Parts: sequence; structure tokens; C-alpha cells
Amino acid sequence: MRELILNSQWYEIMLLGLVFFASLYVGVGALNWVLSRFLLPAIGYGHILDPRPLARGQLRREWLLSASSIFIFGTGMIFPWGLLQLGWARLAIAPSNWQIAVEIFLLVIWNEIHFYCTHWLLHTRWLKRFHLPHHRSIVTTPWASYSFHPLEAIMLGNVILLPMLVHDFSLDALAAVPVFSIIFNNIGHSNYDFLPDAHHDRWWLNGARRHHLHHACYTGNFGFMFPFMDRLFGTALPPDAAQARIKRDLAGSARDAA
Ligand SMILES: [Zn+2]
Ligand SMILES: [Zn+2]
Repeated sequence: MRELILNSQWYEIMLLGLVFFASLYVGVGALNWVLSRFLLPAIGYGHILDPRPLARGQLRREWLLSASSIFIFGTGMIFPWGLLQLGWARLAIAPSNWQIAVEIFLLVIWNEIHFYCTHWLLHTRWLKRFHLPHHRSIVTTPWASYSFHPLEAIMLGNVILLPMLVHDFSLDALAAVPVFSIIFNNIGHSNYDFLPDAHHDRWWLNGARRHHLHHACYTGNFGFMFPFMDRLFGTALPPDAAQARIKRDLAGSARDAA
């Protein structure tokens, strides 16, 4: 595979990137949709986090913006491939399973740091207009996972370029980044509590609760899947941060319906 990638033409890399990202978005999104909307509720495990209705046309908007991000991420594969062609970066030759595992672990940590910083910047006065399209999904769905303004997609999509310049990663570890990202992204946007018995403060895998709060409150919880950056910088939201506004909205819609 390593040789194949290195010897491909630029348009083949872009095409491969498009198929790769589209399959990840549709495949993991569909799996999450079936799990969180049908299978888990049917067996009585877990629950919806934000019971408010979706906005009008929300799914259509999420699909359109995600298609644009898939185009950017897919064709953007030309950049890491270009670094290899220029000789500015290299791929590891015959990496051991241990090396791949350690590299993936490091890339998960780097991805958290990169996401936190980018996301924090996107919440500043200067950049927030490029982040608001993502936040139009106040109640999240799995299809919001790639629903970004093109500039946000470019800012997030460059995550592997810097690590590639400082270390010869294995192709497996680099290819794992979009895979764990879409899985974490789906957990974050699932609007479903997959760990209903876990204590909010202690359990590191509660990405779904944390990111649901970020969308419901707009601020705080800037991290991706794990809480360490928010804890480090004091931006973590309390578990009940969205309770009052969800209750108020539900009471309002019940009044309107009566
Ligand atoms: Zn945000
Ligand atoms: Zn989000």
C-alpha cells in the first residue's frame, strides 16, 4: 500500500481521498444513526441527551455542508502526499505493530490539542462567523460530524501535516487519524448517552455528553473526545449547564402546542 500511494498520480490520490472520506462519513454516520435512534432505544439502553426537536431543514443543511467538507478533506489528501513527493516527509518502512500503536496513541493526543486550539480560535470574535454554520445544529445529529464552513474544514483538516514533518509515521497510523476522528466525532454529535451510568466528572469517554453541552450552550467544552484540555484551561462546563434552557424551550413548545 505504501508503494502504491507513493507511486500514484495526484488525481488518483484525490479520488482515493474522496472515496475514503465519503465512506467514513456515510458508513459511521449510518451505524450511529441506527444504534442511537433504533437499536439502543429498543433494548432500553442509554437515552437521548437533548429531547428538543431538530430545526427546520437541519439534516439537509448538515448533509450539504458535510459534502463540502468531504470534498475539502478528500482532495486535500494532495497536501500530505505532496510532502512525501517533495521529500519533506517520509513514511516508515516496515513498522512494527508496537510502533503503529504508539503512533496512533500520540496522534490521538495531538488531535485533541490541535482540535482544542483550532476550536477555541473559531470561537473568537474574528473567526466565529466561520464556526456558526456548525453551531446551527443546536441539537446535534450524527450527520453534523463534518458539517463545517469550508474554512473550518481547512483548519481542522491540516491536523497531520505538522506531525509528518517531525517524524516518519507509518501509513497505518496516518490513515487511522480520519478513522478515529469520525468515530469520536460521531460520539460527540450522537445526542445519545452511550454511558448512562458513568459519573460525568470521572469518566473520560463521555464525549457525547460533553459535546452535546457545547452545542446546547455554545460556549465551554471546546475539547474533542477527551476532557483533559478543558480541564487544563478551565473551560469545562458543569454537567447541568444546559438543563434550564432545555426545560424552558420544551415548556415553551408545549405552551405553543396547547
Ligand atoms: Zn464550537
Ligand atoms: Zn460540534
